[in-house]
Amino acid sequence: MHYNVAGLLKESSGYKSMETVDDIFFVEEMNRQADAFGKLVLIRTDKGIWVSADSVVLIELDCGGCLNQFEFQFEINLEEEFIPYIDMKNNSIIHIEPGEEPFRIDADNIINLEEAFSQYTFMKIPFSPRCTVQCRGLCVKCGMDLNTQKCDCNTKHIDPRWASLVNLLDSKND
Ligand SMILES: [Zn+2]
Ligand SMILES: [Zn+2]
Repeated sequence: MHYNVAGLLKESSGYKSMETVDDIFFVEEMNRQADAFGKLVLIRTDKGIWVSADSVVLIELDCGGCLNQFEFQFEINLEEEFIPYIDMKNNSIIHIEPGEEPFRIDADNIINLEEAFSQYTFMKIPFSPRCTVQCRGLCVKCGMDLNTQKCDCNTKHIDPRWASLVNLLDSKND
């Protein structure tokens, strides 16, 4: 996910360059790798480089129902401006307003998209992801995966997150 933009930074504003995305990146918040495939347009702006990426991302997640791993696929439409540290026209240092925290082009004129992809991916992950919309989860009594087997517990099949609450209600009703 590293793009050398030295050439593009020498061009005038509006100049474009097309790239492909086919990379593995690391999502720090989840301590997990993901794959990205897609296209990228780099556009020279007056301050830096505008990055516009359309990409499909694949990541392994743990289902919140049955706890099995499954492959989660979604699209990222990344739109970010990357600002260099040095203005190549006059070799001056580019100052950033306090409070602004743009993505930066590093001193070797490399745009590293890993951090941006990691942030966008983390925002796309559901709070409690499901392997399928019909996931039946685990039996709250015996723990059996109800997607593949049927147990004899004859219990209400409920979301494991609510299991303790339901047990509490059940005990009150006894
Ligand atoms: Zn599941
Ligand atoms: Zn059971």
